[in-house]
Amino acid sequence: MSHLSPILRQATPVVAVRGEGVHLFDAAGRRYLDFTAGVGVTSTGHCHPRVVAATQRQAATLVHGQYTTVLHEPLLALTERLGEVLPAGLDTLFYVSSGSEAVEAALRLARHATGRQNVIVFDGSFHGRTMGAAALTTAGTRFRAGIGPLMPGVAVAPFPYAFRLGMTGEQAVEHALAGLDHVFATTSAPEETAAMFVEPVLGEGGYVPAPAGFLDGLRERADRHGVLLVLDEVQSGFGRTGEFWAFQHHLRGVPDILVTAKGLASGFPLSAIAAPAELMARARPGSQGGTYGGNAVSCAAALATLDVIRDEGLVPHAAEQGRRLLAGLREVAAGAPGLADVRGLGLMVGTEFCGPDGSPDPVAAQRVQQAAADLGLLLLTCGTHGNVVRMMPALVVTAEQIDEAVALWSEAVRVTVA
Ligand code: PMP
Repeated sequence: MSHLSPILRQATPVVAVRGEGVHLFDAAGRRYLDFTAGVGVTSTGHCHPRVVAATQRQAATLVHGQYTTVLHEPLLALTERLGEVLPAGLDTLFYVSSGSEAVEAALRLARHATGRQNVIVFDGSFHGRTMGAAALTTAGTRFRAGIGPLMPGVAVAPFPYAFRLGMTGEQAVEHALAGLDHVFATTSAPEETAAMFVEPVLGEGGYVPAPAGFLDGLRERADRHGVLLVLDEVQSGFGRTGEFWAFQHHLRGVPDILVTAKGLASGFPLSAIAAPAELMARARPGSQGGTYGGNAVSCAAALATLDVIRDEGLVPHAAEQGRRLLAGLREVAAGAPGLADVRGLGLMVGTEFCGPDGSPDPVAAQRVQQAAADLGLLLLTCGTHGNVVRMMPALVVTAEQIDEAVALWSEAVRVTVA
């Protein structure tokens, strides 16, 4: 008898047999409101009929057309279509399968293109579990401890986490940018720094949107020092925050490299980096490739995802439903002192739990998350201390489903910590 690794931590006891929209169903037919979306992946909902039809068609036509052996139509079509949603100038794509692999690709490209070694990341970052990406990850020691030595050349600057810093957004930005300048002055000389990697909304690190001004500050320093600005939009991209890319809320310019995955293909494994052609061409020949990158069925899923996002107006819809969710969760938190901060951007909303002295309270967060699961609302925790409960439903979520989730959340809070 063989078993699943006991190290996989299960957030809920549910064994899913079917998914439809924002719902999952178990073998007994019990329905769960899924506000995890497979960690922000099923952007168009579980088994959107257009994604299902497109992938069924593709699976019956060509499953695997390995992209350094042959090209295939879905890959070429997707590359063209992504041009409609990518920021100006980022017109060249390289595909892999997971977020971590795409981060690795961005890292290789940044080092090749600049001839520099160092990378600056921001406190609380999550960029993946592969060894290079883990070296860029500072969301918690659980992602790093015991696997070292990790890749050297990574410096950590502060992220403008206003709530934790006890500051306004503006003060937090000033603090973080001063910290970044300090890193350039003390730890990673500009001429040795290849890139800054940043999530426009900290994901695993606690669902913290970067306040206005931060990304502009990074862009300015990137230009001044000839350092590449790499935005990891693996979790925040593809409409989730109510703009197609989260950086579009604030940044006046564009990144040098954009990393995307998760919502891109509605649940099929696909990720990509986008960069200007001239930059991408500076990657060394042979440094890009892979067996599964740009899988034909995944590309078909991504094409259907783009169609659904456009035809159903899901980006403005995510903005509107996100506002509704944020308002509902703020109302719940107003009556419960342990729910210390509610924040988010679009459909990426978190509630941070703290004790009376302001210290992180992961126990309360996990109790409420479990109680919500018992009530039929699936949620995940995040944050360095595991004391943030995050909600990230599929972009197709309706106002009624938001209200149902807020009511279940309110009940979960009432029966546990209120
Ligand atoms: N970057 C970010 C911002 C992420 O949220 C994640 C996954 N949570 C990754 C990278 C890694 O993606 P994957 O798990 O697909 O390797």
